[in-house]
Amino acid sequence: MELDGKKLSKEIKEKIKVEVSSIKEKYGKTPGLAIVLVGENPASKIYVNSKIKGCSELGFESFAHFLPEDTKEEELLNVIEELNKDENVNGILVQLPLPKHIDEKKVIDKISLEKDVDGFKPENFGLLMLNDKKSIKPCTPAGIIEILKSYSIELEGKDVVILGRSNIVGKPMAGLMINEGATVTICNSKTKNLVEKTKKADIIVVAIGKAKFLTADMVKDDVVVIDVGINRTENGLFGDVDFEDVSKKASYITPVPGGVGPMTVAMLFHNTLRAFKNINNID
Ligand code: NAP
Repeated sequence: MELDGKKLSKEIKEKIKVEVSSIKEKYGKTPGLAIVLVGENPASKIYVNSKIKGCSELGFESFAHFLPEDTKEEELLNVIEELNKDENVNGILVQLPLPKHIDEKKVIDKISLEKDVDGFKPENFGLLMLNDKKSIKPCTPAGIIEILKSYSIELEGKDVVILGRSNIVGKPMAGLMINEGATVTICNSKTKNLVEKTKKADIIVVAIGKAKFLTADMVKDDVVVIDVGINRTENGLFGDVDFEDVSKKASYITPVPGGVGPMTVAMLFHNTLRAFKNINNID
């Protein structure tokens, strides 16, 4: 069965829209999201524009900052400093990847903790690992937990195998799965006997950036497969899973597009609303 991230993300966004509207009525305030893009990366531009559009659809205020490719690190840090101070801005999103001459870590460090709607700051990662309610969770893994829960897919006691150990997907995904009571194995490019591990998994999350990497012979019957990959190839857009092949064996599987991607965007708005409420002491 396909896990429909598009449908679920629409439902989540609809609820957020209603809540934003009632917040405006009750408090006379509008949650605001600042989006910063440095350079001309075409995929990044598409993501940023869809986030700006999403803001206007849901009633958020958006503050877009399009900076040229040759922006100095110092200049970007100054922009973030101003956004940190701006009371109309509740969330700050700096679209990654940044040009090579800018240190990503320094930029993330500069964003104030309460406005870190990507959940990338070390403090938020720590809070996530501690299963603290105050943590703002990275959008992609948080969206994956939402979609699994919405289909009542049990996580407690399950063997979960995650392919990929990035700071934005693999590692926080592991933390969230551990908090749900799953037994987690995180694999990387050096992992030995990968297929032995994937074949035992009840749930597999694939986030490696290799088109159609996971095939049916690597999984057991009735496995749940979450495909995070976005691979634009000459032949079109593919996930990290060979969907046609694996879907014959899987009990549940996310499509690409229409699975994890839309959930990631929905969780960004969820996080922005959460940040607005935290800053304004609204429950
Ligand atoms: P990343 O930073 O590109 O890192 C890839 C990870 O995969 C690394 O940890 C790497 O291991 C591991 N890896 C590579 N080949 C492997 C193999 N054969 N077996 C096991 N592990 C392997 O990853 P990312 O930023 O998380 O992105 C992964 C994919 O998800 C990309 O296609 C990206 O576009 C997509 N993505 C989608 C969304 C969404 O919303 N749908 C969000 C974020 C990312 P090493 O550490 O050993 O190199």
